Amino acid sequence: MSVVNDTVLTYLPPKRKQTPSGWTAFNAPCCQHNGTTADTRQRGGLISNADGVSYHCFNCGYKASWQQGRNLSVKMRKLLQWLNAPDDVINKLALTVMQENEGIQVKQQLVEVPKFNTVPLPLDAVSIAECSNTSEHFAQVVNYMKQRKLFLEDYNYYWSPSLGYRDRLIIPFYYEDRIVGWTARSVNDNKKVKYLSEQQPGYVFNLDDQRPAKIFVIVCEGPIDAIHIEGVALLGSEAKDQQALLINRLNKDVIVVPDRDKAGSKLVEQAIDFGWGVSLPPWGDNINDIGDAVEHYGRIFTLHSIVSHAETSPLKIRLGAKKWFI
Ligand SMILES: [Zn+2]
Repeated sequence: MSVVNDTVLTYLPPKRKQTPSGWTAFNAPCCQHNGTTADTRQRGGLISNADGVSYHCFNCGYKASWQQGRNLSVKMRKLLQWLNAPDDVINKLALTVMQENEGIQVKQQLVEVPKFNTVPLPLDAVSIAECSNTSEHFAQVVNYMKQRKLFLEDYNYYWSPSLGYRDRLIIPFYYEDRIVGWTARSVNDNKKVKYLSEQQPGYVFNLDDQRPAKIFVIVCEGPIDAIHIEGVALLGSEAKDQQALLINRLNKDVIVVPDRDKAGSKLVEQAIDFGWGVSLPPWGDNINDIGDAVEHYGRIFTLHSIVSHAETSPLKIRLGAKKWFI
């Protein structure tokens, strides 16, 4: 993707929807600057392709586009200003595009996207898929995976024979194919410390798995939930700004599925603020999270119930929340 597409996508309003014909629709930021009343019906449209990006407003008629090999137009600059991109970002973008057009390789980060360092896994950690250990501890971990319906095909799980880790399932955190953290979940529920983790600020679990063809991204709290339904996890019950930025950058419809506890209800309000969708499927009262739902109903049913109960109206979300939190 070009640096122009990337910058525009970063500053689009978070409340967007994808149309089947490939447009990203959102409230147009241009109309009140062109003597028309502000758009509240998502009449602004953006379409990207391999060599450019086009913006069309179906409310006031404003258009702006950029193609590979061209410089940043005045109309494109204006659009970015109306999207609240800071002036220095716009100026740097214009310069970067100009330099690229002159064949200069530019390696400049324009947008404040969090960076993650590569980190090592716990001592002696081995991929479970390649592990032939015969100890009781390893057998316990494999058993736990069986119970929770976790499969080797779904994720590269690890295990370590070292003391403190041998009764834990290690889930590496990947970002752009590098390991940037991990969590080690105890396989005994009576263990005091359920998770031992190494996590960097702003990290969102499983972003690498969000392929371009996917229309929506399901956001949940825990990594195991995310693996089950190929979603992403906040690794907590709160979406930090940097996490929201990484999720919005995917440019997909966002569906949040909170856990059914008090902390989860805070996440619902955050999702409404970000303009994200929320799904609170009518699961049985004994189901506390996606992991439980998958154990009881299976993956396909769970995924289908999440997608078919996604809501974007704050009123409907809050009504549903009354029944959801137990
Ligand atoms: Zn407009």
